[in-house]
Amino acid sequence: MDIWQKQLIESLTVPAVLRDRFGVEHGALDEVAQRYPMRITPYYLGLIAHPGDAIWLQCIPDRRELLPCLDDPDPLHEERLSPVPLVVHRYPDRVLLLACGQCAVYCRFCTRKRKVGCAAMTVTDEALDVALEYIARTPAIRDVILSGGDPLLLEDDRLERLLRRLRAIPHVEIIRIGSRVPVTLPQRITEGLCNMLRRYHPLYFNTHFNHPRELTALSAEACRRLADAGVPLGNQTVLLRGVNDRPEIMRDLVAGLLKIRVRPYYLHHMDLAAGTGHFRTRIETGLNIVAALRGPVSGLAVPHYVIDAPGGKGKIPLLPEYLVRLGDSAVLRTPSGEIIRFPNREG
Ligand SMILES: *Cc1c(COP(=O)(O)O)cnc(C)c1O
Ligand code: SF4
Repeated sequence: MDIWQKQLIESLTVPAVLRDRFGVEHGALDEVAQRYPMRITPYYLGLIAHPGDAIWLQCIPDRRELLPCLDDPDPLHEERLSPVPLVVHRYPDRVLLLACGQCAVYCRFCTRKRKVGCAAMTVTDEALDVALEYIARTPAIRDVILSGGDPLLLEDDRLERLLRRLRAIPHVEIIRIGSRVPVTLPQRITEGLCNMLRRYHPLYFNTHFNHPRELTALSAEACRRLADAGVPLGNQTVLLRGVNDRPEIMRDLVAGLLKIRVRPYYLHHMDLAAGTGHFRTRIETGLNIVAALRGPVSGLAVPHYVIDAPGGKGKIPLLPEYLVRLGDSAVLRTPSGEIIRFPNREG
């Protein structure tokens, strides 16, 4: 068994461990973990320095996830944009393929927390066949983004079969992998995996670092292996209140990413997924961070700050020309010129 598989077997799935390890009472958290699954690899747990820190907040269940709220379980309308199970087709030329329902760590802020790690997200061979048929009969699709869940929780042979089938579709030009394992389970990026991946170029990889403390020797090694296999690496960060909502933290993060050959790509404003409200910042917080990066750090390190518009209207870059008005309800212009409102408040 590989080290990464052992990490998964030994991952923590019940809050009781918090008492043993940190002396923190966990009673009320059982209910949270039953609603939204918990899983933390020993590696990622080991990055916690103390209860309530930036790593803790990302992975430990929190009672605020169950607060009554007006937010939507599926704010991006992914279910409506799903022509067949496992496929989200928002933009004409590219689709998400939800290739695996599980993750190494269940992030408490996940936009798909309504279903990741749940039975509803089990990926069957039959569903995958139907999804691949959809891609094969839709010539407009040039770019397939393997997502989930985390596609790198698939075993190498299963992942390779999927890549081979996608490569057999003539109109699929590029394949992207969206995975958080370089952050939460870097041992998954084995030489064997990289030797397999290099046969399926052009292949791009987007990972998901949120805090400079996630930049470790092991995560750097994972990124080095991927980069050495010729895979361009990007990073998507979610702007999280109390985790990375200060300019100096984000500066350390983006500068650190460039050092491990990962290019900052998106900074996502927290969307309106139910159970994640306590992570939301105001839009000004993100604008100030991006402004603080522009100049002091290389332009290579400055991500695009985006809001994924509610209702599946797509990503909106947060640049002044898209901001009609701020205030407690921000008024934004989508790239197609539509005017939408977005709540501009914390919590
Ligand atoms: C973000 C996203 C993509 C990819 O968008 P890029 O801007 O090309 O990275 C594709 N489909 C959906 C549904 C998305 O949310
Ligand atoms: S790794 Fe991605 S899909 Fe999985 S829980 Fe975290 S944010 Fe959600």
